[in-house]
Amino acid sequence: MLSPSQFIENHRPAGGRRSGKRDFIVDVFLRQSGHLGADDLVSLIRSEDARISRATIYRTLQWMVEAGIARRVDFGDGKYRFEHSYRHPRHFHLICKSCQQSFEFLSSDIEAIIEDVANARRFTPSESVLQIYGTCEQCQTGLPSSVPRLPLEKVFARDALRVAIATERSGLAFYTRASRLARDPRGKRVFERLAAEEREHLATLEARYKELTDAEPQLEAQPAFLFFKSASNGLFSAGVEELAAPGVGDREALRIGIRCERASHRFFKQYGERFEESEGRRIFLEFADEERDHFDLLVREFRALVARQAAKRPRSRSVASPRGVDGAAKPRGKTGGARKSSR
Ligand SMILES: [Zn+2]
Ligand SMILES: [Zn+2]
Repeated sequence: MLSPSQFIENHRPAGGRRSGKRDFIVDVFLRQSGHLGADDLVSLIRSEDARISRATIYRTLQWMVEAGIARRVDFGDGKYRFEHSYRHPRHFHLICKSCQQSFEFLSSDIEAIIEDVANARRFTPSESVLQIYGTCEQCQTGLPSSVPRLPLEKVFARDALRVAIATERSGLAFYTRASRLARDPRGKRVFERLAAEEREHLATLEARYKELTDAEPQLEAQPAFLFFKSASNGLFSAGVEELAAPGVGDREALRIGIRCERASHRFFKQYGERFEESEGRRIFLEFADEERDHFDLLVREFRALVARQAAKRPRSRSVASPRGVDGAAKPRGKTGGARKSSR
């Protein structure tokens, strides 16, 4: 994974000159979590090196915004704040009006709705900002928070694993069911193999989750950052329901599996690529690759099954074209739309 200095190098504009002072300021900024006012950064920097002027710090902050290292956030109180993008995806905010604390979250469901609205209005969005103002739990109860806030990148990695685990579980339920349902012996073996793979992946992901939370005892108790409800529960559980419909044969079961895997692959790839370099991004992209392998396997099996069935009925009309399987059909779920896709 990228170190802070590699991260800065990647964002340095071509021909941009290096400067010791600037690198120092960027370095201090990247070590912070949350949202800093320009003056907060000035005090931080000057407490470490009083020779650096306010003007230099302001200029560097501006440079970081232009280079994509810092994002400017406006909580509507007349003061700009800055957050860095290192291992830190774009997100929405909850803002407490009493204590001015802000809390970060990201919801794929909200983003899907925003995308639907923009598509329907033929609008090309460049940025969406969602801020929820109100009173935080601490201010409501008067009790101090019992868990210290951890850096967002750790909570992000934890949540990315949770999303992947939930998806893997519903995939396992899907293939277990499909393998019971299948009549074609070869199709049955494929579903059994996929169920076994999902079980294995699930164990790997759970071990990784345990490793992460063992290393950081407060991590489990952190509030959620990713709200990916319909993505993690919905992709395969809709497929499980479809399997239960009367008259679903092997071919239809394969078709449903293909659709689920494709939607899952697209979803994880799209989000993974959008995220900044981070553990969370890696988890999403690795997961996307696994889903693509499953997709490829199912497409091969679908074709083989169609060929076998055609061979059994040599007089019947050609069924060699698996309509709606390899690319003609639109993806299900909310992740399709106008976004670019790898398939
Ligand atoms: Zn508060
Ligand atoms: Zn933020």
